[in-house]
Amino acid sequence: MSFVWSLVGFAAMVVFASFFEWTLHRFVLHRPLWFFHHPFNAHALVHHRIFRADHTYHVQNRTDEGKIPMNWWNGPVLILAGCLPFTGLAAFISWWFLLGAFAAACAYYTIYEFLHWCMHKPKHRLLERSGIFFVLNASSAAQVTVRIISRDAVTK
Ligand SMILES: [Zn+2]
Ligand SMILES: [Zn+2]
Repeated sequence: MSFVWSLVGFAAMVVFASFFEWTLHRFVLHRPLWFFHHPFNAHALVHHRIFRADHTYHVQNRTDEGKIPMNWWNGPVLILAGCLPFTGLAAFISWWFLLGAFAAACAYYTIYEFLHWCMHKPKHRLLERSGIFFVLNASSAAQVTVRIISRDAVTK
């Protein structure tokens, strides 16, 4: 049964994480929270100002490469935050549920950062020719465009 619970936890986290990512991006990364400005500054003011919806969407120099991924500590923070609701559930169900969710959160974050890196720094990888990458990249670039249209409302 433990194996089944970890699978359920894994699957539930994959679904949860995509909502979590969307919510964070919309409400934390593009809007400064009154008590915590770092995510907004790092993302909207630094990341999106370097990588725009023109040729600069692809990294132009080595210094900017460092601005593609989030700061390293965002990883553990986001993974632990995402696991919080799962911890509550696991106390009632099974700790294997939490283990599965934790594994999925780590995998999700790693894959997210890797795909995001590939989007800004293309290198003719096999992955970049896959349909799913194409869709993700187009939606990421579209978000940048939408944001630029409404930028004045957001960043000024
Ligand atoms: Zn953004
Ligand atoms: Zn980006």
